[in-house]
Order: sequence, then structure tokens, then C-alpha cells
Amino acid sequence: MSTDKIRTRYAPSPTGRMHVGNLRSALYEFLIAKHAGGDFMLRIEDTDQERLVEGAVDIIYRTMEKTGLIHDEGPDKDGGVGPYVQSERMKTGIYMEYAKKLVEKGEAYYCFCDKERLATLKSEVVEGKEISVYDKHCLSLSKEEIEANLAAGKPFVIRQNIPNEGTTTFRDELYGDITVENAELDDMILIKSDGYPTYNFANVVDDHTMNITHVVRGNEYLSSSPKYQRLYDAFGWKSPTYIHLPLITDENHKKLSKRSGHSSFEDLIEQGFLTEAIVNYIALLGWSPEDNREIFTLDELIRDFDYTRISKSPAVFDIVKLRWMNGEYMKAMDADKFYEMAEPFIKEVITKDMDLKKVANMVKTRIEVFPDIKEHIDFLETLPEYDTEMYVHKKMKTNKETSLAVLEDILPRLEAQEDYSNDALYAMLSEYVAEKEVKNGYVMWPIRTAVSGKQTTPGGATELMELLGKDETIARIRKGIELLKAEV
Ligand code: GLU
Repeated sequence: MSTDKIRTRYAPSPTGRMHVGNLRSALYEFLIAKHAGGDFMLRIEDTDQERLVEGAVDIIYRTMEKTGLIHDEGPDKDGGVGPYVQSERMKTGIYMEYAKKLVEKGEAYYCFCDKERLATLKSEVVEGKEISVYDKHCLSLSKEEIEANLAAGKPFVIRQNIPNEGTTTFRDELYGDITVENAELDDMILIKSDGYPTYNFANVVDDHTMNITHVVRGNEYLSSSPKYQRLYDAFGWKSPTYIHLPLITDENHKKLSKRSGHSSFEDLIEQGFLTEAIVNYIALLGWSPEDNREIFTLDELIRDFDYTRISKSPAVFDIVKLRWMNGEYMKAMDADKFYEMAEPFIKEVITKDMDLKKVANMVKTRIEVFPDIKEHIDFLETLPEYDTEMYVHKKMKTNKETSLAVLEDILPRLEAQEDYSNDALYAMLSEYVAEKEVKNGYVMWPIRTAVSGKQTTPGGATELMELLGKDETIARIRKGIELLKAEV
């Protein structure tokens, strides 16, 4: 296979919902590949058997399909470099085979230390976690001792052998060359005692043997990358282009976590966000185009995505901004599609016989997420209790007296009116307005108040009356008259 072709991979560990940070890595990997006409691969990293969550692989497939991040190769699409699931790759013996090659080169060694001995080692805090630094005790074992231990079935791990002197340099596309002292790198485990490789080892073997050219991942992996570089060098392999992404934080500049309530794709979907808006928003978490444009379809992202424009500064997940963006997608949506998605939210509120498509059209430009629908339309189902002060409107030149007069005046006309379509009602009221030589609002304001009991409504008076129908409209006008009469 030609290695000139850009090949990227999304390599999730199936540990639960799809975190926004993971979806961003997947999206950027997808965009880098597709922008260059390359291949995007899905690899399941399930070597940490203790962290596996049932159903998580399904979540990965579902999310990728829904978001349109369609892989060219993966467990379900063989591209000739499989298996694409690390536990299955392990069964082929590939990791052990490569680990043994490193042992032969003196770049790795068997370690038989038991828990008790490891517990006595001094520990260091690395990336906020306390880890014990291995003291290379087993590096001095003779060939015979190793053979004897192995023959006796003694549990072992294989560790990377990192010299105490010298430095290691690797390159990240965004951070440039990074050089670290070897003394700061611990002899990490490559093969665990259960025979599984660690992520640290498997990612190198897999990215190389699967011809991956660009690796995008969170910058929590930045500090381990020198160790990976040493593995590539030891094998004599070229390392892929690394792109480590900035941290995603919440509004308080803390790492975006479950506590925020919107840290995963599934959370966002449950909160009523549209898939397209989520993908669009996530694309901008750390990346921006030259012209600061914000609304992108996936195809436009493919066209415009330039990974050299990814920022190193932390990206703040701003739910208010996402809501705004979602609202833009709602507005742009085709009316039928909008109705289809809005219907269940509308039906949760409206049980009366009403033209629900008209209800949907009325709220379409006013909501940011579907659950917003409720607060905009619940007055249609039941007239809320309201304060008659609402009839007082300076600009419309209305007060309680004028409102009462208009409502009493208009009631018989509404009773006589047969056609309750928006247009017919509007024509009838316009006639009344002309007759009385008053401003539109002088009549519409009290009527709208009486039929809605709300200060702001998603439609004008006649639109609401059309939805409510004759009987309900008249009942509400009467109610308004009754309330006003008690006060004036
Ligand atoms: N399995 C790793 C994770 O889910 C992947 C990291 C990488 O992309 O190399 O964090």
C-alpha cells in the first residue's frame, strides 16, 4: 500500500458516551483526511479491559454515522490492515512480536517485579497522577534468569528501556520541536501482565502498521509523546505527523467534565441540539478559518479545514454560543423537516385540536433548541393567569379602560364571524380599526393580551385566534372583559 496517501484514524476507547473532546478529535481527523482526498479509519482501542463499558462501541458507531464522519476503514470495513479492534489485533500476536523485537534490541526488557516490590518504589507526580518510577531493577537480570522465570510461568510485564542520560526530541505540528530530558521519562509498561499491550505501546505499533500519516489527539498525550518517539526510533520507523489539540474547558475554565451536563454528544442531543449544529460548533473549538466565518456544513468544513490554523490556547465550550448557532440552523431548516422534529415537543404541550404545522412555523424562528418550544406555546393549551396591567401599553396608547372598551366592542363581531382564518380575521379587524380611526395596536394589543395572557407571543393576535378557533377565542375575550370589569 502506498504510504503517500494521507491516512488518519479515530481511535476511541469504548468507555461510555462520546465526549465532546473525542468527537472533536474524530472530526479533525476526518477533515484532514477528506480535505486531502485521503482515508479516514476507525480503530477501537479496547486494551484497557477494566474500563470497557458495554454498549460503548455501539455509541461510537451511531455517533459517527449520525455526524457524517463516515470511515473508509474500520472493524466493519476491511481495508487490508486489520483487525481494527486492538483486542483482536492482540490475538494475532502482533504486539508481543514487536515487543520482543525491542527486547532483542535492548530497547525493552522483561520485568518480574511483584506488587509488593513495586509498592516500595518512590513515586512521582506525573500529570497530576502519582506514579511509581521504576528503578530498572529487572534490567540487570541475566538471560538465564529471565528464561527460568518465563519457564516457571512467573507473571511479567515488558517495559521500555529509556536511558537516564541524554534527551529525546519529537515534533508536533502546532507546538514545534519539543525536547525532554530522558531522565524525566519512566520505563513505561508496553505489555501488561494480562498479555494486553498498553495504549502507549499499541498506538505506536498500530499507527505504524496501519500506515497512519496524521495523528490528532488531546494534548494530555503531549507528555507521553517523547516515549512514543523513542519507540518509533527504536524500530527505525518514521513517526506520524502529530497534532495535539488544546484542552476544552467549561465556562469556569475547568476541564469540560460530566459535571457540566453537556460534555458528551449524547447529552447535547438530549438537550435538543441538532447534529449539524453540534458538529459545526465543535469544529470551531480550537480551529477558526481565515475569515472568521462561523456557519459551516460538513462539506464546507472539508473544503476549508486547514489544520495549521488550530490554536494552542484552551477552547471554552460556550453553551450560549452553541444555542445561538443551533437557532441559526433551526431558522435555515426546511419547514417540513422542522415540523417532523418539532412535533413531539409540540404534542407534549398541545392536546387540543389545532393546526400543529402552523404552531411549528410560528415558533421556528424564535427558538434555539426544541425544548424551548414549550415556553412559547403553552398558553395555547391553557390561558395562563395574567396581570391586567399587561393591557397598559404606552406606545400602543392602551390602558385598562380602552382595552375593555375595545374587547366589549369587538366581541359581537367575533361572535358573528364565521371564517376564523388568519386572513379573514385580519381583514375584519382592519375594517374595525379604519372605522374607529385608531392605530392598529390600539385594537390588536388588547386582543392579543386577552387571547394569550402573555406579554410576548410567537405570533400576532389573528394568528393566535386562528389557532385557538372561534369558541376558545371568544371564551378568552370574555375572560378578559370579566377581569377588566372587576378593575375599572
Ligand atoms: N484511545 C485513546 C483515547 O480514547 C486514543 C488516543 C489517540 O488518539 O491516540 O483517548
